[in-house]
Amino acid sequence: MAMISCKECSAEISDKAVACPKCGAEMAKGKARSTLSTIVIVGVILVALFFAMDAMFSSNKRERAEADRSLEQPNRAIDRANQLDGR
Ligand SMILES: [Zn+2]
Repeated sequence: MAMISCKECSAEISDKAVACPKCGAEMAKGKARSTLSTIVIVGVILVALFFAMDAMFSSNKRERAEADRSLEQPNRAIDRANQLDGR
């Protein structure tokens, strides 16, 4: 990687650095900034996806619990019908 000098303190820093490690001056590089904002946007999307997946998973659990309950009910109805036939 190439070294460039900071425009504020003229310290030798990496051309990939977003800010000068010595004086903290931001490097006026559109590419570096757009990369950083892309990382932030991807991070936000990942967090949103995580919450969406979590909501989907918990709703699946609720649906499964409801399905179990609806499976039990026909059995109970059949039991009741068998009892009635036995009489
Ligand atoms: Zn500097």
